[in-house]
Amino acid sequence: MRAVLSVARRAGPSEPAARSLNSLLGIRSALDVLGDIARLRVVDLTHPLHPGIPYWPGDGYGPFRYAQINFFEHDRKAAGLFEMPAHMGTHIDAPIHFVQNGTSVDCLSLDRLLKPAVTFDIAQRAATNASTLLDEADIDAWETRHGQVPRGSIALVRSGWGTHWGKPPAFRNDADGVMRFPAVSDGAARLLVLDRGAVGIGVDTLSADNGEAPDSPCHRLVHGAGGFILENLANLELVPEQGAFVLIAPLPIVGGSGAPARVLAFCDTEEQ
Ligand SMILES: [Zn+2]
Repeated sequence: MRAVLSVARRAGPSEPAARSLNSLLGIRSALDVLGDIARLRVVDLTHPLHPGIPYWPGDGYGPFRYAQINFFEHDRKAAGLFEMPAHMGTHIDAPIHFVQNGTSVDCLSLDRLLKPAVTFDIAQRAATNASTLLDEADIDAWETRHGQVPRGSIALVRSGWGTHWGKPPAFRNDADGVMRFPAVSDGAARLLVLDRGAVGIGVDTLSADNGEAPDSPCHRLVHGAGGFILENLANLELVPEQGAFVLIAPLPIVGGSGAPARVLAFCDTEEQ
């Protein structure tokens, strides 16, 4: 897959993509490369959008809204209008979410949105402790099995919390006014982003910071280093601990602090 990734990076606007592919792949054709990709297992890490999905209970936030403008009454066609907070559903947080003058979502480099993934599993702890965090020991254990986290990875945290997605009160878990769900410790974020060079962190909960965490330390650390955060990811149980790469396609909202994103994982069928 390495050849495919490098082609995706190098085909710039000044060079026709077909010529770049031919010169970089030699006798391999674009169709051969596409064939290789088609043999991979593709996992959709995106929750579908509808008015019943959970959302962050902050000021100005509200449910996803969709209205039909036309449903075949006129011109034999359907069209709709939707409205949503930028940080809703499966979405990406850009550095400007917590860093003044940081990179906004439309300016995230495409190169950083197509990267190898490493997946950490904290589901066993999360089943009995909703407030559990990914910590340095989880990364140590992963590296004992697989070697050091490669530079430029996207770090995914699988907590099993996605099973609550269809029940917003359980997903927020805030019956007493404080949200409790699995998240990422600032120590783990520091190790992954500052030391291992991860470009971003993804979680299957409402936030990479637990609702109890004062002042969002993980967000401040990751965004302060220029990294991004993916939240409300789906289907992480289908992504192997290593051997996958992730493609993130956020809406390029100009100046946006974040945006809904389609997130796909391409997994080697031999790696589980
Ligand atoms: Zn967010």
